[in-house]
Amino acid sequence: MTDDSSGDRLLQLSVYPDGVLRKIALPVEEGQVDEELETLARSMVKTMYEESGVGLAAPQVGVSLRLIVLDSSRERDRPVVMLNPVIVDTAGRAVDEEGCLSVPGIRAKVRRHDRLTVEYETITGEKTGFEADGLLARIVQHEVDHLDGTLFVDRLGPAGKFAVRKALRELEKYGKE
Ligand code: ZN
Repeated sequence: MTDDSSGDRLLQLSVYPDGVLRKIALPVEEGQVDEELETLARSMVKTMYEESGVGLAAPQVGVSLRLIVLDSSRERDRPVVMLNPVIVDTAGRAVDEEGCLSVPGIRAKVRRHDRLTVEYETITGEKTGFEADGLLARIVQHEVDHLDGTLFVDRLGPAGKFAVRKALRELEKYGKE
């Protein structure tokens, strides 16, 4: 299938301090999954790959809905589309470096849960979920944070926040609120 016939397209990323990144995203309601939403999900996957990201949340493309896509596979061929994801269980702690397509040019070590269980709905309406650890658990937490208006830089400790504050100020200069 060509891009034209599927309707997939590269989406424009919302960048800090864009206000859409601070909104609490709305649930995807039953019956709301139509062709338009499917195209949005496919376009998000396409955009994630194009930008070499491991995850993307709908608010990052200007859509305030509880929809995320991710792919933690090395081969970049196992995209997961998750509607209304909820982290229902967590364990352990781990610190690792993160970046975000919506906060370009900044990387920082973030403390997160090491393991979790997440439940969500597929694009075809099935309720499902999985357990994750390591990178996948980190991606899920990072992307679910986006649905609640939280960015990874919010999760930094005082020293980390201090370290990124200049770079954030630069983004604020050029960005839209
Ligand atoms: Zn992000």
